[in-house]
Amino acid sequence: MKIDPETQTVMLGVRELSEFEICQRSSGRGAGRWRLEAGRTWHQTIQGESQEEFDREKSISGRIERGGWSIQIDGRCDLFRLDEAGLPVFGEIKTVTDPLPLPASELRARFPAYFRQLACYSLLAGESYNLAKSFLLFLNIDTEIRQTVALGPEDLESLETHLDSLVEFLQFTAEQTASRVQLEWNSFRAHPRAGQVQASEDLACAEKTHRVVGFQAQTGFGKTRIVLEHALEAIRAGKADRILYLTGKISGQEQACTEARQLFPDSQGLRSFRMRNHREHWAACPLDGCLQDKCAPPAEERSALPVAELIRHPGHAEEAWDGIRELAENFHHCPYSLSRGLLPFSDLWIADYNYLFSPSSRHIFLEQPGFDPARTWLLIDEAHNLPDRTSSALGGRLDTRLLQNAAEDLREFRTDNTLKATLREIAREIENLHPDRMVDSATLFVFTDLFETASDSLANSPLPWRELTGDTVSTLQALESALFLLEREELHPLLWSPSPGRLEWLPLEVGPWIAETLSGFAQSVFFSATLDPFPSFVSNFGLTEEQCQLVRAEADGTHRFRTAIDTRVQTTLRERKRNASRTTETLRDLAESSGGCVAAFFPSFEYAETIQTYLEAIAPHLRSVLQPRDLNANEREEFARTAPLSHDVLFLMLGGSFAEAVDAFGGIVETAMIIGPGLPELSTLNRIRMDAYPNREEGFHEVCRIPGMRRVNQAIGRLVRSLEHRATVLLHDRRFLEPEYHDLLRKDLGEIATIRNEGDWQDWIGGAG
Ligand code: SF4
Repeated sequence: MKIDPETQTVMLGVRELSEFEICQRSSGRGAGRWRLEAGRTWHQTIQGESQEEFDREKSISGRIERGGWSIQIDGRCDLFRLDEAGLPVFGEIKTVTDPLPLPASELRARFPAYFRQLACYSLLAGESYNLAKSFLLFLNIDTEIRQTVALGPEDLESLETHLDSLVEFLQFTAEQTASRVQLEWNSFRAHPRAGQVQASEDLACAEKTHRVVGFQAQTGFGKTRIVLEHALEAIRAGKADRILYLTGKISGQEQACTEARQLFPDSQGLRSFRMRNHREHWAACPLDGCLQDKCAPPAEERSALPVAELIRHPGHAEEAWDGIRELAENFHHCPYSLSRGLLPFSDLWIADYNYLFSPSSRHIFLEQPGFDPARTWLLIDEAHNLPDRTSSALGGRLDTRLLQNAAEDLREFRTDNTLKATLREIAREIENLHPDRMVDSATLFVFTDLFETASDSLANSPLPWRELTGDTVSTLQALESALFLLEREELHPLLWSPSPGRLEWLPLEVGPWIAETLSGFAQSVFFSATLDPFPSFVSNFGLTEEQCQLVRAEADGTHRFRTAIDTRVQTTLRERKRNASRTTETLRDLAESSGGCVAAFFPSFEYAETIQTYLEAIAPHLRSVLQPRDLNANEREEFARTAPLSHDVLFLMLGGSFAEAVDAFGGIVETAMIIGPGLPELSTLNRIRMDAYPNREEGFHEVCRIPGMRRVNQAIGRLVRSLEHRATVLLHDRRFLEPEYHDLLRKDLGEIATIRNEGDWQDWIGGAG
């Protein structure tokens, strides 16, 4: 839908118009691709059968005027002919899984958009069409029973009511747009921090010449505020309608909500909304039978949407979420559907990356009425995390036990035997795989063939999705996910078996997918404290350095770190045991001299547990705690807040949640010891990734060294969350001195001391080094 509020014109397709709905309904998960294929096949069959009487795929376009708006509509009708009087007759084919025949009134209630679509063709034909002869042909793709329903005057009336709600939405959009020229906010410019004005100007220059810009600034610099203000300026200048703020961390989303509140404290001017994940909506859902893994309540059982209530957006994201929960209770409505309904009435969408980069979730944003990427500023926070998160979103797994269970589950239903047999065949193929090895090209071909067979049989014999177990639905969706990836050669799909009975897949390259997604947006700005090394970074985004400009913000030059590299040890797997005593003594000395809690970041739990045991033996007076596994977000925050107050040493994981996602250490924990450069495990997958580079060193650098050192830089960043914070950092491994590692260290560590012997260590720990 292309809306031009100035000229009050809108362009959209017939289908888009007839399906226009402020709240998209949940499709109940599951039927996507196969349902589409079955529909396509039946369309072609019926069009073939009718070819003597009807033209197929007839283009129909026209312009209608409603409520001061000029609405340009384009579409293609499945079947078309002129009757004996030369009047147009339209026919639309609709495949359904509902039992047929049904009373016409029931079909109108279940499929209002289909009737509106047919009515729309008639409307575009002007006065001269044959109402009584135009028809919808329903076909149940399971039983193949057909039912024809003639278009009636009530369908034209329903279309008119529908057009009224479209005009109401357009009017709202136009009023919003008009009010934006007066948008005012609390700018950072009133009290800029050191370097902010210059960084903002540099960013503006980069945005003039590049549609994709990177912005790197240290933690506490105020990046979020600057990029948000740039996007607001684009909105005020009429160059954009919306801001999409994506980040992989809930704390980052909350931070964006706080910034929006500070920009507009009186809630006037910008309507922000944080789109939460499905789990949070499910927890707030008042509907009976709402299941987290399978949307059970049929759409028709839900009450009408309180659109007028949604338009009354309170402004701030938190209040908007409270409002959604209240509406869900009061109107007995699905909160997920209500959240989707609020999006068209919100200017700033704050969400997880998945809402744009995951193939299974992106439709929630992309299909919103009035959403136009070409009129949207895309802001990607903590952008260094995006490639890994996108890779996970495109990946998936299958398991022989779940495949066998799904085949059993399907025995209960009248489904094509091919599907059950294919699921068992896939399970057998997975069992035959060598664990810990990549799937060879011949076996890859076999899997592709089996996934396609399963897909075809699902298309030919659709399933009662709501009656299947959640595990069966997930297993069948996993097949869809695997096929999605296998069909995209540019992403270099990779299949392997990590352990007996399991198959996993991932893209070796995510750059093309990210670049394709970014390409539609008016402006993309990705920002982080750790975008370096930039060439590697842009290549992970599928871009070249010419396509993307990096702005590096300089703060006030204050040294906030006191840093040393301890070259007395190496912490490679082979050397760890030999150096365990020295590592333990170093940690003890650091804890005894620091006067506060020390955060010790290790590459693995096993290593951390060993050193903790040693420490308890040589320094029982020091209170230490190991990072608990599997904490949820709240428990994590609680641990980060309380553990430093009651312990002398925290044993934490590099790359784990406490090195990535927790801000509570800032200003509380002032000493960190980083044990080794955080290299990821040399798993089968990483070996395969390394082999994709021209030589081993380059592969190791990209796949291991850069991500490892990024973990190190992020762990250090946990301690300094504002410009006032200070920290002492010991890099405990001589590899940090090697140029390949040293060059990847963050640039704000000040002058880095080198500890070569016990004397250097005692000097440094005593404050003289
Ligand atoms: S919250 Fe419940 S009703 Fe709503 S989409 Fe999710 S499962 Fe369905």
